[in-house]
Amino acid sequence: MREYTYGPFRSRRLGLSLGINVLASYKLCTYNCVYCEIGLTKKENLVSPNYRIKLPPSSNFRKELKSILTYVPHLNSITFGYNGEPTLNENLLDFFEIADNVRNELDWKNKKPILTLFTNSSTLYDDKVRGRVKKFELVLAKLDAANEEDFKRTNRPNHETPKIEVIINSLAELKKEMLRENKLAIQILVFASYKDSFLPNNNSKNIQDLAFALKKIQPDIIQIYSTARIPAEYFVYAIDDEKKREIAAIFKEIINNEKIEIIVY
Ligand code: SF4
Repeated sequence: MREYTYGPFRSRRLGLSLGINVLASYKLCTYNCVYCEIGLTKKENLVSPNYRIKLPPSSNFRKELKSILTYVPHLNSITFGYNGEPTLNENLLDFFEIADNVRNELDWKNKKPILTLFTNSSTLYDDKVRGRVKKFELVLAKLDAANEEDFKRTNRPNHETPKIEVIINSLAELKKEMLRENKLAIQILVFASYKDSFLPNNNSKNIQDLAFALKKIQPDIIQIYSTARIPAEYFVYAIDDEKKREIAAIFKEIINNEKIEIIVY
């Protein structure tokens, strides 16, 4: 029975990716995003970004990982971050180190898989958390909104979450602290709404605000995508590819930096 790993799955963004959960078997998150594809965050599990749990890997983690990796010589990514926000676990780097060791013990057909982390960015104001996050070779950091109204509507953060401006500044800080060979990708999920009373994050103010936030952060990669599975709220639906390309064009013009790769999924 598998305790820590999911897949591998073929992912639009990562190629063949093996998922690693470093949290418990239930969702634990600082957000309750309207589009979340693993369902609503229960009230008792919508925790503060200051909240930390200590969940070290058991000896099974190494065994489980090695037994799977041995059979997937063409894996592209070992990807941390299922069941919520992985930086809430104080022991994140213990998992990282075991994964790095196991990866280095094996023969890879082509390139060895990269160590990737998903984060919703809410805990990055904490220097200790950034110190852990920056070790990953690819950091996929969420930023769906760049003003307080859109942030609260879209991500419905725990009330102790810092303001979006603080989160944007901490993403800029993280980028400066990361090694040149590691990459920061900002992931932006843009959606539309069937409900007239709910303004979705594809509104022009939010798109403009996001462009200026991205200009400040200067990530290596910007990924624009939309919902692909059933969202937590019934009124959320995916925007089409043309709209994604329009958003990419707005970002490109405002950011005005050819070195930043903008990818539409
Ligand atoms: S941050 Fe991720 S896991 Fe948490 S509610 Fe949002 S989409 Fe779901």
